[in-house]
Amino acid sequence: TAAHITSMDAARGLNAYITETPEKAVEMATASDQRRAQGTVGKMEGIPLAIKDLFCTKDTLTTAASHILDGFKPKYESTVTTNLWNEGAVMLGKVNLDEFAMGSSNETSFYGNVVNPWRRQTDDQPLVPGGSSGGSASAVAAYTAMGATGTDTGGSIRQPAAFTGIVGMKPTYGRCSRWGVVAFASSLDQAGPMTRSVRDAAIMLEAMAGFDPKDSTSVDMDVPNFEAALTGDIKGLKVGIPKEYRLDSVPAEIQSLWDKGIEWLKAAGAEIVEISLPHTKYALPSYYIIAPAEASSNLARYDGVRYGLRVEGKDLADMYSRTRAEGFGSEVQRRLLIGTYALSAGYYDAYYLKAQKVRARIAEDFNTAFKEVDTILTPTAPSAAFAFGEKSGGDPLEMYLNDVFTVPASLAGLPGISLPAGLSGDGLPLGLQLLGRPFDEETVIRTAGVLE
Ligand code: GLN
Repeated sequence: TAAHITSMDAARGLNAYITETPEKAVEMATASDQRRAQGTVGKMEGIPLAIKDLFCTKDTLTTAASHILDGFKPKYESTVTTNLWNEGAVMLGKVNLDEFAMGSSNETSFYGNVVNPWRRQTDDQPLVPGGSSGGSASAVAAYTAMGATGTDTGGSIRQPAAFTGIVGMKPTYGRCSRWGVVAFASSLDQAGPMTRSVRDAAIMLEAMAGFDPKDSTSVDMDVPNFEAALTGDIKGLKVGIPKEYRLDSVPAEIQSLWDKGIEWLKAAGAEIVEISLPHTKYALPSYYIIAPAEASSNLARYDGVRYGLRVEGKDLADMYSRTRAEGFGSEVQRRLLIGTYALSAGYYDAYYLKAQKVRARIAEDFNTAFKEVDTILTPTAPSAAFAFGEKSGGDPLEMYLNDVFTVPASLAGLPGISLPAGLSGDGLPLGLQLLGRPFDEETVIRTAGVLE
């Protein structure tokens, strides 16, 4: 995939890591060797992972790629990373992201842009890795880690996976604990694996997932053996193709990759069914009300008192406002303003409540479709990786539109996977997305295993 990444320096040039943790890696790998010698191996024994810098890691810098968390070393470890360490995984470091996971290109990090290891065949311009889990995606695509954790609120695992030619899975909302993951939009945030194969994603998801009494939205259900779902058999499986996802604005090569995916599934014995998800066009507008609204509430805690950065002022209110003005980047500030507005008295009903009603309709669309089909196939994103500045220069809506295929499943809380399915005309990876019923990650994984 990344032929020009031939040295550690070249890999470092991608700016995927915010903090490398070599001492920790050696310590964890040594402990892993000892366990192996004793014959007690976990599901992820000795597997080196990169951790999105949104997961709190005990005594290790956790930044959310924001200036406002300067110097923040949590006193606790997130449940998901704890689960991974309990299965023997080894931490290589904390990886870059869009600030507070707000973005689709990794251009909003206080720690600088992450670069995609891929280049177009036609020019040598550096490209974005997607976002917000862009550091995770680049780290895995450039072979600097076997896998990485990501988080997905509206596509932040699936879209960067598609842009970098790897596999990214967002599990059902409630499958992985959000405890110790820096919150963006709590009703949408989910952690998931980013790996180079579907099998790796299945193994890693099993290690990450599980009920956690410390997260009230974590669901008390058994975690299946996801790897066992990779039977290779999808005969008779009903795959839905949503007609509303055939957008004119989507390039022909992405439409045709989608058609190829349909043919591959047919050839494997699946039955293709056209479905309708009529409220699709309202997904982006309602997401971009709900996510900023929840963010404005969650990020109220960064006040210069409890965490990281403090910029002194003439009184307490002045200290708050200076800290937040300097500590948050412009995209985060934009969202906090939108979110605060949407939640304020007089506007709440018109915006937040309305968006919540639309969200219920979108979930209903999927419920209806899943009475007829077992999984849904769509493209992951309406474009391949793009150049820096291409969508971040002017109207923010340009960037938000890149989430058009990932956001609906986020609003409905459904599991989804993106897998590399082909190349664009100029040689960039393109992804296909499979969605499933709530807590039916197994069907999604099984189908992805056949498409891979
Ligand atoms: N691109 C979307 C946003 O900026 C999704 C981000 C995410 O999933 N964390 O909100």
